[in-house]
Amino acid sequence: MEQLLIERGFSGRILDATSPGYAAALERDNLASERKARLIVFPRSERDLSIAIQAAKQSVSQILPNPKGLPSKKVLRSGEKIAVKCGGHNHSTANSVENGVVIDMGSVKMIHIDRENMQVNVGGGCLWGEVYATLDKEGLMCVGGGVSVVGVGGHITGGSLSHPHVYKHAN
Ligand SMILES: Cc1cc2nc3c(=O)[nH]c(=O)nc-3n(C[C@H](O)[C@H](O)[C@H](O)COP(=O)(O)OP(=O)(O)OC[C@H]3O[C@@H](n4cnc5c(N)ncnc54)[C@H](O)[C@@H]3O)c2cc1C
Repeated sequence: MEQLLIERGFSGRILDATSPGYAAALERDNLASERKARLIVFPRSERDLSIAIQAAKQSVSQILPNPKGLPSKKVLRSGEKIAVKCGGHNHSTANSVENGVVIDMGSVKMIHIDRENMQVNVGGGCLWGEVYATLDKEGLMCVGGGVSVVGVGGHITGGSLSHPHVYKHAN
């Protein structure tokens, strides 16, 4: 899959188990969520994200032994398992994947304030604390998660344990 990413012009970081920073990139808020991903990719744009998903779908991740044990015939499993990570604070196992590909949104950090419509558009890798700090400089604030290190990506999408009807309504 690395080869496909490079050929197609993926511009973000690509880490495997031999790369500096790999162990740190596997860390999660909840130890039980940590999985040894085969690859961790950090898209920097929508184009990168598209390349990563296409490459993961098209790559052949494993050659499984033939169920009958015949070495002349192998079964190819195509497509990598994918997990998406933003803040890494969800206590499920959905933000990492054993032997698969983690798409870490941590490099997508744009924050755009639209004063006219009183809206803020943020990248899929922003943490709530980063959004609040940027808005605060402009004398603004928005409704969001209660803890600064929680990711906007997981919170807004209601990823697994975000209890949208409890937390968000309370906010
Ligand atoms: C200390 C703490 C405080 C919390 N406080 C609040 C609160 O005040 N209000 C509230 O509502 N919830 C709160 N939660 C729950 C929290 O919102 C969810 O756990 C949320 O899923 C965490 O988001 P994350 O980006 O940090 O997690 P991650 O584990 O990175 O993401 C969770 C899942 O969301 C999906 N996802 C993440 N980013 C993207 C993206 N950019 N695009 C598409 N899918 C994506 C993925 O499937 C991912 O597996 C809190 C959780 C913790 C641990």
